[in-house]
Amino acid sequence: MAQLVLLPGKDRSLARRHPWIFAAAVDRLNGRARPGDTVEVVAANGRPLAKAAWSPESKIRARVWTFDPDESVDDAFFKRRIQAAVDRRQLTPALRGQEGLRLIHGESDGLPGLIADRYGDTIVLQLTATGAEKWRQAIIRALQRASGGARIYERSDSSVRRLEGLEPVTGWVLGEAPDEPLTIVENDVCLRVDVVAGHKTGFYLDQRDNRLLTRTLAAGRATLNCFCYTGGFSLQALAGGASHVLSIDSSGPALATARENLALNPQLAAHRAEWREADVFSELRLLKSAGRRFDLVILDPPKFAPSATHAERAARAYRDINAFGFRLLNPGGLLMTYSCSGGIRSEHFQQIVADAAVDAGREARIVQRLAASADHPVALHFSEGEYLKGLLCQVD
Ligand code: SAH
Repeated sequence: MAQLVLLPGKDRSLARRHPWIFAAAVDRLNGRARPGDTVEVVAANGRPLAKAAWSPESKIRARVWTFDPDESVDDAFFKRRIQAAVDRRQLTPALRGQEGLRLIHGESDGLPGLIADRYGDTIVLQLTATGAEKWRQAIIRALQRASGGARIYERSDSSVRRLEGLEPVTGWVLGEAPDEPLTIVENDVCLRVDVVAGHKTGFYLDQRDNRLLTRTLAAGRATLNCFCYTGGFSLQALAGGASHVLSIDSSGPALATARENLALNPQLAAHRAEWREADVFSELRLLKSAGRRFDLVILDPPKFAPSATHAERAARAYRDINAFGFRLLNPGGLLMTYSCSGGIRSEHFQQIVADAAVDAGREARIVQRLAASADHPVALHFSEGEYLKGLLCQVD
């Protein structure tokens, strides 16, 4: 096994159990390793520290599999780690019985570069790093065993694969496409999930709890749901008794699924739903000039800042939409606002939303801080895992 030797002093982040080894921390590689091979990580003085997956093309030059230098990285390793991740979710009451569930959340489950989501008996697998790619077969076997899933679809088409020198890969790796369109029930609402063409692995599971929170807030409120995708927040708002829900997204296919989703839930007051295919930035201005007002505004935009280098431009975009969100609220109204940008930390996001309130000339207070659901845990030593942050604000 090749040996990755760190520069003096560069073992500190590893001592704190951070799983990424950046190129700038690496002194040299003793021996040969191909992309994805397991290497032994040693400090400058030769002390063994960890075993990691070698990724020569990425700025993250290696990702730690284990901080125990004596642990083997083999089929049994993946069997153990994957089973443990699945078991943890079964032990979490809020997650038990969920048909849509993230089973494996990468680094935070001790499995860098590996995402697995369950939709009923279909599992969607996403590999985003060379190490996970190398162990693909072992991972598929272990996933099937731990999940009891009937079929596995691979959605390894995330753009981050390019940074690792990996091509996109998609397709059924176990079983075949189901005959019927895939649906899940999430907190009493039935939703269609397109694992082949939908966003991410098909659905935004991370917002499950926040969609449920929306239901508890919506009674009698005129609601605006911006960036609605397939209508998850909109349908929960209707379930909670919203007086009207206007939902906006720029994606025609997402809105078509949103309408289908509404039709799948006859218990909901469909006549209160209005869908609009538009760019949120321009539509918010139009709504403002038309004098429309709402009691609940939801802003769940896509990642404006995938990394810290995009933070400044992204901050402008967040500030814009949040200012309009505030302007459109009736007195006492609620703004539920999110950022899923890894490049924007939670204090920064709060500052942006505070500036937006000033732009809009509104007084507001935070009534609740919001995050991803429990199946998207954040390992204590891995703050990068905390990508989704939200604020529930109430205006005067
Ligand atoms: N809230 C959703 C997830 C939102 S994902 C849920 O709970 O499922 C972000 C959505 O924003 C995507 O559906 C994408 O199509 C849409 N989008 C991206 N840019 C947009 C823009 N400028 N205007 C309107 N929608 C946009």
